[in-house]
Amino acid sequence: MNKILAAAAVSAVGIVPAQAESIEIKANGSAASVIGVAGNFSGHAVISPLFPPTDITRASTGLVNFAPGARTVWHTHPAGQMLIVTSGQGWVQEEGKDRRVINPGDVVWVAAGVKHWHGATATSPMAHIALSYMQDSKNVDWLEPVPDEQYR
Ligand code: MN
Repeated sequence: MNKILAAAAVSAVGIVPAQAESIEIKANGSAASVIGVAGNFSGHAVISPLFPPTDITRASTGLVNFAPGARTVWHTHPAGQMLIVTSGQGWVQEEGKDRRVINPGDVVWVAAGVKHWHGATATSPMAHIALSYMQDSKNVDWLEPVPDEQYR
């Protein structure tokens, strides 16, 4: 790993200082998208990093594209998460409550420590921008998968 990649890897997980007195543009496509790993997602999800957390924004931000049937595993966020649905139709569920439909333009706030999952519906893809707030260099605690019978 070269020095630039190493710096990028560090900034992806930790909070980096905000750039002083300037405008910074992360050009579309400048950060490589990744396929969601099986421990964190069921089905096919593509995560495109948008902007790393800074000491001002305190959130890791990314665009997540879920194929129909794809969803996160159950998880919590130590400092909460905002989801902005950008296309398709999805589902979000808080533990112990009914699954809810989310559509483009909907904004979802998940409070710190609330166990939940989010993803596409069984028949539609869904994309959302996720702003995952950092606490102690962490923004998520992944738990167990959502079984098919629970998802549907
Ligand atoms: Mn979440």
